[in-house]
Amino acid sequence: MEEFSFSGSSSDAVEALLDEVTTETQPQPLFDGSSLRGQIAIVTGGSSGIGRAVAMELARCGVDVAFCFLDTGSQARLDAQEVARQLRQFEVRVFFRHCDVRESKEVNAFVAEAIEELGGVHILVNNAGIGRDRALWHLQDHEWEAVVRTNLDGAFYFTRAVAGVMRAREYGKIVNITSVHGIRSEFGISNYSSSKAGLIGLTRSAAVELGPRNINVNAVAPGYIRTTRLTEGVPSENLDRARAQSVLGRLGDPQDVAGVVLFLCSEAARHITGVVIPVDGGYLL
Ligand code: NDP
Repeated sequence: MEEFSFSGSSSDAVEALLDEVTTETQPQPLFDGSSLRGQIAIVTGGSSGIGRAVAMELARCGVDVAFCFLDTGSQARLDAQEVARQLRQFEVRVFFRHCDVRESKEVNAFVAEAIEELGGVHILVNNAGIGRDRALWHLQDHEWEAVVRTNLDGAFYFTRAVAGVMRAREYGKIVNITSVHGIRSEFGISNYSSSKAGLIGLTRSAAVELGPRNINVNAVAPGYIRTTRLTEGVPSENLDRARAQSVLGRLGDPQDVAGVVLFLCSEAARHITGVVIPVDGGYLL
């Protein structure tokens, strides 16, 4: 019977493997935002609500930020300027300007300019989004189109625009802000629900296509989050119902979403791709 013994070289190989395993399994801080320092992020719709909180959280970790907004008038511009001022307090570089995510040419120009100004792009957060709620039998073509084009087409245009740079660099983190309403619907939001469900499909497809080049693509699905849009646009009885349906008994804050986005952008989440993380206080349970 043949004797089995380790030769000198194979035992060296085993030693090397053990060393590697030992090094790689040493306790390390699970999530240290400071590892993102020096990276460059694009956040769509960064001038208010969740987008603003995400941009602030990234800047707090030393990430240079480019953000766009929809220029709906002087107040929108003032809001964007104020966010840029607050971001610069973290001593990061900031690029911001109007860009309508529904227009692919504008998106391509914005991404090219942001990359030129800041020197690249490591992170994309597709956050810009709107709702135009109405029973579907009353829904106008323009209300359907505005929502689907903003929430879904916009994310596709931005993802396509950064894909070349991220693929060449073999590094990237893309986070799409979908919604619990992309998973479960309610009355009067067929356009919104369809766009957010589509965004989940885009997340999975992009994860499959970009993963081989070390690009993670994930989605966060917020429940009801206290942003101005929500508190001004949704009847208070709906908010009371949402609070009651959340097992944690509260609405979320933009910061609750921003923290999860930050995690997905970090190396702590390097083995996570194509998933949808609800940030909803248990609303979907
Ligand atoms: P806000 O209305 O506060 O912010 C939306 C941002 O998107 C603004 O910066 C807005 O710019 C920008 N935006 C809108 N349309 C366009 C466009 N065509 N081109 C460029 N920018 C645009 O919304 P929230 O922070 O509440 O929502 C952010 C995201 O989170 C959305 O995708 C939303 O669907 C999602 N979400 C929100 C929830 C909530 O409860 N708040 C729950 C679940 C998901 P401007 O201000 O200039 O119009």
